[in-house]
Amino acid sequence: MTTKRAYLSLGSNLGNLEENLRRALALLESERIHVVERSSIYETEPQDVTDQPWFLNMAVACETRCFPLQLLTAVRDVERQMGRVRRIRRGPRVIDIDILLFGNNAVMDTPRLIVPHPRMLERRFVLEPLLEIAPDLVHPVTRRPLRDYLSGVKTQKLRLKRPLSP
Ligand code: ADP
Ligand code: MG
Repeated sequence: MTTKRAYLSLGSNLGNLEENLRRALALLESERIHVVERSSIYETEPQDVTDQPWFLNMAVACETRCFPLQLLTAVRDVERQMGRVRRIRRGPRVIDIDILLFGNNAVMDTPRLIVPHPRMLERRFVLEPLLEIAPDLVHPVTRRPLRDYLSGVKTQKLRLKRPLSP
């Protein structure tokens, strides 16, 4: 069975944010999703539901033998293990893990999973960390370099922090 690469976005705005990201990375490993690259952590302004605390976001590249829906199940499992309760859509959360890109330009649109992530091009908190670890990525649907989309999201506030400490 072949190993595939996926890019994930992680975010947290409830509790100890750095600790939540660290724990999510450790839990991903225990689901046999091997994190091979990680971005810095970024403090980001909430979008959509703006009356909530700022987020800590990061992006990671991982290697996995999972198929896309298995990967979704695994990341949902990590969210559940961390006690995520789905209350307000797009509201505060201990952890959110989104699948941004999968494999060699996979494109899928199913009721449970959409890849590439449908809102990734409109979110600075996704694009900046992702481009930090993979500056030459191209969007599998539009075929444009992801870096071309940064100018469209620059008004969203974001502060670069440091690497996530061990
Ligand atoms: P959001 O991330 O938009 O704030 P949730 O994390 O609650 O919201 O996810 C809502 C649903 O989005 C999940 O139950 C999942 O089935 C679906 N979904 C569709 N595409 C993706 C994707 N690429 N990554 C993660 N979840 C996805
Ligand atoms: Mg999500």
